[in-house]
Amino acid sequence: MELRKDPITRSWVMTGDDAAEAKPSPESPCRFCADGAQVIAVSPNNPGAAWSARSVVHPNPLYHIEGEPGRCGDGIYDRMRSVGAHEVLIENPRHDRHLWNASDEEIGHFLRLAAERILDLKRDPRIKYVSLFKDYGKNAGQEFSHPTSQLTATMFVPRRVLYELRAGREYFVAKERCVFCDIVQQEERQALRVVEARGDYLAICPYAPRVPYETWILPRNHEASFERTGLNKPGLRVNLAALLRRTLQRVRTLTEEFHLVLHTSPSSLHPSKNLGYWKTIDDDYHWHIEILPVVGSKARSYTFKEVYYSPVSSETAVKQLREAKIEG
Ligand SMILES: [Zn+2]
Ligand SMILES: [Zn+2]
Ligand SMILES: [Zn+2]
Repeated sequence: MELRKDPITRSWVMTGDDAAEAKPSPESPCRFCADGAQVIAVSPNNPGAAWSARSVVHPNPLYHIEGEPGRCGDGIYDRMRSVGAHEVLIENPRHDRHLWNASDEEIGHFLRLAAERILDLKRDPRIKYVSLFKDYGKNAGQEFSHPTSQLTATMFVPRRVLYELRAGREYFVAKERCVFCDIVQQEERQALRVVEARGDYLAICPYAPRVPYETWILPRNHEASFERTGLNKPGLRVNLAALLRRTLQRVRTLTEEFHLVLHTSPSSLHPSKNLGYWKTIDDDYHWHIEILPVVGSKARSYTFKEVYYSPVSSETAVKQLREAKIEG
């Protein structure tokens, strides 16, 4: 597999003729419960548990930390090797403790571990961006039965984040304001699409959703970088953990399957000449978590990729999510 750059959108894709992969046999015993995995980082213990959240090397990584990217051009085209890192973040030692039913303290440990791993990987001068994501459910591409998220560190900025960075910068150039801050303010003022506000964080259904029940969690005050957000402050962490837990509970009353992705600022060690965003990145980008539920009967495979199709308005989605019966 290699990375190729689309010369039109300037986004990188992973492609190549992969040998058919041996599917890991049903996990018994679970590889993440057994102590065979190569542990990278561990977050502080919960009372009575050996660990609370930890990070391990992905058993079948898409990106490898060794080697040089070997960037090369072929006429108008660019390609490079998939150098980077691919980790599994084990959210909890227990199989039945998920981001929607674990304690806020446990979820907080996971969030802090994620922030620490992003900070650490961004210190590698080759790394431009660190993605944190979770796929839950068969149709969402879930890989492991153990409650896990994944993290990839890449030498390029992924497509969607690149679009957001470009758009954020253009908005900032025009208005000298952060577009995400303006969204937060308008949504709070209009209160049409706010799912819940909790401390410094807000959950909303975005005005132009890509999928039904799409929900974002953002800090109410401007901050470009999740990992710098002060997750070492227990108060902040607990509010974010509680809002994440409660939002996932709401979503799960409608569908169990979802994608979750964290969008944070790229590594500032890499000024990008062709984007120029580094000068104002701290002012014009604003970290957020996107939750994209997988609603099988309403998904449209082709339009989903080209022009996002969403047959549920955010105004309807927010009502159902607000009124969802949740536990805590
Ligand atoms: Zn396990
Ligand atoms: Zn902002
Ligand atoms: Zn985003």
